[in-house]
Amino acid sequence: MTQKVSPEYIQTSLAASLTLGFQPGSFHRNAKLKGLNLLLHYEEGCLGKCHFCGLSRSRRQGPREKTFIRVDWPLYSLEDIIQSTKGKDQLHRVCISMITHPKAMEDTFHVIKRLRDETDLCISVLISPTLIHQEDSLIAMKKAGADRVGVAIDAATPQLFDQLRGKGVGGPHQWGHYWKVVHMATSVFGRFYVGIHLIVGLGETEREMVEAIQKGQDMGAHTHLFSFFPEKGSPMEGHPPPSLGQYRRIQLARWIINEGLGSANQMKFNGNGRLIDFGIEIEPLVQIGEPFMTSGCPGRDGRVACNRPYGNERPSGPIRNFPFMPEKEDIEDIKKQLDVFG
Ligand code: SF4
Repeated sequence: MTQKVSPEYIQTSLAASLTLGFQPGSFHRNAKLKGLNLLLHYEEGCLGKCHFCGLSRSRRQGPREKTFIRVDWPLYSLEDIIQSTKGKDQLHRVCISMITHPKAMEDTFHVIKRLRDETDLCISVLISPTLIHQEDSLIAMKKAGADRVGVAIDAATPQLFDQLRGKGVGGPHQWGHYWKVVHMATSVFGRFYVGIHLIVGLGETEREMVEAIQKGQDMGAHTHLFSFFPEKGSPMEGHPPPSLGQYRRIQLARWIINEGLGSANQMKFNGNGRLIDFGIEIEPLVQIGEPFMTSGCPGRDGRVACNRPYGNERPSGPIRNFPFMPEKEDIEDIKKQLDVFG
């Protein structure tokens, strides 16, 4: 029996599967998915061992039960996915997550080209820096049809990165190399056509997270923020998610930095590294609501397309990344959660 592996088969996020009509269901509060997330799939899985990830090789369960950033990833043929995108105007962008596997690079080129030729979606690639050693691979992705790339730095400090993704877990990834690839990517795709993923709550202080966001901004990469969620069966299943207060403060700081309204060195922190002053009047910014929406690659309209509904939380719990504009009651809750208004 032939194996269902990439590039002919590819996993989609559960949200993408529902939106493409492969499974019945709709989203809590009628959220609409605008970005399709795809994930390369191989029998051997990802060669990384990242401590927090549902795809990690050190995860205890079998491959069928694997999850990744808190959502199931069902497997479909690329052909079916492409056909199902037709006529779905709500979709603006598609993102190919590479994973760390020897075949990932050539398969990524194949998938980009098919999506470019057969859909009108903008194309992002969430690249695997460990597989990238020179600009040529990035230039080839751009030529094939990708207009943006993301780099999942995930952990905000070199120590946490090493401990959770590198030497600490016997994994192949290196902090310095990841940032080198961010730099390479900005020179190939252009400043702010590159995004970095950072996960809040892996053990960093708020000051450290804000400094990592600023580092990305200085290099020409906006931050796409995630809230740590303990994946069942992953080595970090017992580690708590960040408090809502911590997440809200980092969301606001990220927005201020990425919108160019302020910088990390204008912000003030207490002795525990908690953000206590944003260096700017925040009440009007909170009222806008947008700082608390999902951050990700934009769509054709310039607004965030990769809105990942309920990618970081259970629909029943408080929403961390709003996949739609927060409403008046949401803003009232957010104000309390921020815990900075005397
Ligand atoms: S933010 Fe961009 S790179 Fe990251 S998952 Fe979304 S589309 Fe992909």
